[in-house]
Amino acid sequence: MGRLVLDNLGKVFGEGEKAVTALQDISMQVEHGEFAVVVGPSGCGKSTLLNIVAGLENETSGSASIDGRRIKGPGADRGMVFQSYTLFPWLTVRKNVEFGLRIKGIPAAERAETARHYLSLVGLSEFENSLPRELSGGMKQRTAIARVLANKPDMLLMDEPFGALDAQTRLQLQDLTLDVWREESATVLFITHDIDEAILLADNVYVMSRRPGKIVEKIEVEIPRPRNHRISLTPEFSAIKKVIMERLWKEIDGGS
Ligand code: ADP
Ligand code: MG
Repeated sequence: MGRLVLDNLGKVFGEGEKAVTALQDISMQVEHGEFAVVVGPSGCGKSTLLNIVAGLENETSGSASIDGRRIKGPGADRGMVFQSYTLFPWLTVRKNVEFGLRIKGIPAAERAETARHYLSLVGLSEFENSLPRELSGGMKQRTAIARVLANKPDMLLMDEPFGALDAQTRLQLQDLTLDVWREESATVLFITHDIDEAILLADNVYVMSRRPGKIVEKIEVEIPRPRNHRISLTPEFSAIKKVIMERLWKEIDGGS
């Protein structure tokens, strides 16, 4: 479960003279269990792409489907982690993680058990009764990840989730992301502008063009797993990084 197919997907915001074409003819397939990372210049339509897959925006041409079903709106099969922290400030960490389960009508004891399982997975067991304002940025993002996982989605959608974190916290959360991905066998669609992050995480890196965004290259990362940050010191890593950077620079410089 969780095979994503985008077929000539397009998105135009607004109409007439003010129309902005954000995406044009995006075609890509993300296989079940794949860790797919999208990189591209700022403003090229990465968030728009993810929002369409999340069902938060409608496409204006082409189609997006998961397991053969057209995406028509948000659903429990997909869980989203945004760059900015989206926790409910008045709920404790555990109640935040339980939120989706409460909506589904899952009994309190089972909710608490599931929440504790995922809080333990993200290393926050000791903070289950804390409020979001008592947490660091990294801990808030761990909570957001636990909350998404508690709903057991087929697909995890992550829009530059670590972009606001300091370098060391970012490294920890990248490793955590790889751990949970292994554990949960979900399909992941992850957006970043950090090439090192893309290579560490991805099965495939999809490079987008300048706006209107298209997928201009799919680069397979053939570095064996399990991976950790040490791979960034290897020649394989440098070689892949060079390929991605050159493709991206071509977009940013307009091919000059
Ligand atoms: P990225 O995430 O790659 O930086 P976005 O997907 O946020 O890019 O935006 C792509 C383009 O679409 C930008 O030019 C942006 O201004 C435009 N855009 C995004 N959302 C809207 C909107 N709701 N209305 C109008 N234009 C939008
Ligand atoms: Mg964005």
